[in-house]
Amino acid sequence: MKKSLTGFVCLGVAAVLTMSGCGKSDDVLVVGTNAAFPPFEYVGGVNGDEIKGFDIDLAEQIAKDAGKTLKIENIKFDSLIVALNSGKIDMIASGMTITPERQANVDFSTAYYEATQVVLVNQDNDSITSVDDLKDKHIAVQLGSTGDLMAKKLSNKVTAFNTGFEAVMELKNSKVDLVLFDSEPAASFLKKNPQLKMIELDFTPEFYGLAVAKGNTELLNSINQTLQTMKQNGQYDALVAKHMK
Ligand code: GLN
Repeated sequence: MKKSLTGFVCLGVAAVLTMSGCGKSDDVLVVGTNAAFPPFEYVGGVNGDEIKGFDIDLAEQIAKDAGKTLKIENIKFDSLIVALNSGKIDMIASGMTITPERQANVDFSTAYYEATQVVLVNQDNDSITSVDDLKDKHIAVQLGSTGDLMAKKLSNKVTAFNTGFEAVMELKNSKVDLVLFDSEPAASFLKKNPQLKMIELDFTPEFYGLAVAKGNTELLNSINQTLQTMKQNGQYDALVAKHMK
């Protein structure tokens, strides 16, 4: 008797914790991003404290179509999948490349953007013309990114940072030879750093997807429906024009 009562109380406590623990409600779509990946997600706006970007506009439409209010959580890139699988967030919108390794842990939407890795170096560096030239170079990357994985296959001198910003800073200070990063954010960093240049090498294309917890088909179907509609009605192209100038 005592035993079953204890079990009942625990269940009750667990239910209350689940409902109140992470402050999530059915009316809110909690989206996790790492807002250091312009133009997909970055901190900006009039007061410099808003999270904006291509992925955020996509998430806004997804939430609207699902009849929910959007809430953005700015999380370290490397922690996004853990946050999703612990129920802290409902969806990842963070320029995340669809990879077989990640597909083992999350479900991805249809691809919404094609990208590739590129190299950033200081203007005076003419030593890189092919992927082979990256061997033995000191490479800075963003922790947990596809660039990080790729760099580690190419060189044993790889330093990983929490954001691409920090990797670029290290390059500007000539502490590393190059940064390996996704094409669009690299182009965005380049605009603000004329002392750097971009080198496009023969890297395979990558495709970004939005991610949900494994088995969350209701949300996944709704996301895919929104993406399809946005591609058909011109809203997707308008977003590309708005963010990828
Ligand atoms: N596309 C890369 C990846 O998925 C980098 C994404 C990012 O840094 N936000 O690993």
